[in-house]
Amino acid sequence: MTIAAEAETGRDEDRVAGLVERLLDEHPPSSTDKREFLGAQFDAGLAWIHFDEGHGGLGLNPGLQKIVQERLAKAGAPHPYPRNPIGYGMGAPTVFTHGSEEQRDRYLRPLFTGEEVWCQLFSEPGAGSDVASLATRAVRDGDEWVVNGQKVWTTLAHLARFGMLVARTDPSQPKHKGMTYFVVDMHDPGVEVRPLRQITGEAEFNEVYFTDVRIPDAERLGDIGEGWRVSLTTLMNERVSIGGSVPGRGSGLIGMVVQAWKDLGHDDPARRDDLMRLWTRAEALRLTNWRASQNRRLGTPGPEGSIGKLGMADLNKELTAFWVDLQGAAGMLYGSYEMSRPATAMSFDNAQKAFLRCRANSIEGGTSEVMRNILGERILGLPGDVRTDRELPWSEVPRS
Ligand SMILES: Cc1cc2nc3c(=O)[nH]c(=O)nc-3n(C[C@H](O)[C@H](O)[C@H](O)COP(=O)(O)OP(=O)(O)OC[C@H]3O[C@@H](n4cnc5c(N)ncnc54)[C@H](O)[C@@H]3O)c2cc1C
Repeated sequence: MTIAAEAETGRDEDRVAGLVERLLDEHPPSSTDKREFLGAQFDAGLAWIHFDEGHGGLGLNPGLQKIVQERLAKAGAPHPYPRNPIGYGMGAPTVFTHGSEEQRDRYLRPLFTGEEVWCQLFSEPGAGSDVASLATRAVRDGDEWVVNGQKVWTTLAHLARFGMLVARTDPSQPKHKGMTYFVVDMHDPGVEVRPLRQITGEAEFNEVYFTDVRIPDAERLGDIGEGWRVSLTTLMNERVSIGGSVPGRGSGLIGMVVQAWKDLGHDDPARRDDLMRLWTRAEALRLTNWRASQNRRLGTPGPEGSIGKLGMADLNKELTAFWVDLQGAAGMLYGSYEMSRPATAMSFDNAQKAFLRCRANSIEGGTSEVMRNILGERILGLPGDVRTDRELPWSEVPRS
């Protein structure tokens, strides 16, 4: 880095730190309503620091977001992620990157404050890992599109105001070329949301049926037929959103496990070795994610996001199994299996629920096998997976 660039970065850091202090002075988190605080954070350009001014950002290097997050966490400020994980982690970068000025103005602020929850309508019964083979149809009718089809595993669709929908608009094109991306109003009478119950007993995700749902063409994100390109922005951000967080050292899941170790009074040296190994892996993953976030100058993550996602899925499974083991026989008790509709996704406050919920980490946001394929092909340069349907028109690909 040149001296001039370093000085520039230093000035930006000071500016960001000053803005955060001002936000905290004018809106003390302990006495300010959550939404009001998040609205003020957005207006100060501290929501996503690399977004434009007026759209929740300051047009600065995304690496500086860490200054905001660390200071706000220390001050006990609210975070938008728990209420709106899909909107905050994936919807916002997709709208910012591909949306029109009107869409950015309309969607970003209420998404950040949590007034409007978003969901991701990609997966279908016949299209999960190979999401580009999806079959939900959108047919143009004047200034609108008419959508029919079914999505599945849609996290928080029961709370969502808007959904990120990818639909097939030209079946005569090969699968990656005939899709288009839309923002869909989840309150449309043609949208039906049905709960899907998970191993935890909760129904955090859903099936979603579309029957003659009309979407104005102005709610398209990106060009017609460019749905795959737009989807990649969502998917790359999804991996980082799920597996790329950089919490403080020793916090998050590893912090909960260490706390349980202390609370339960364990001191056996063999188990301590196991705990240390897990702690070291958690720290290595945290630092890897930190490095990736520092390198991400332009904001849109690349294949490096798959490293964090893969590492986190394996580690969380082992951490939660260890946490349950620490409980001894009590680890087999599970409270209630009554079905409930949670207001957040991926949350847990005890070992048993964490153990069950984390089984899904190697499936959601792209499976671990698919992450390994991406790393093999795009980072290590290994030969590609076998893809026989890549050039065929989607309508001619055999499917069950
Ligand atoms: C908790 C949870 C929340 C989710 N939330 C959402 C959501 O909000 N929105 C949404 O759209 N989707 C969501 N999903 C769906 C998720 O993205 C898919 O489940 C995932 O992409 C896998 O697709 P699939 O379930 O159809 O499995 P499949 O794609 O059928 O895969 C089955 C098995 O085959 C393996 N496999 C598939 N292809 C390959 C390959 N090329 N090479 C090697 N192995 C392969 C997979 O790894 C897997 O083990 C969620 C899933 C979960 C578990």
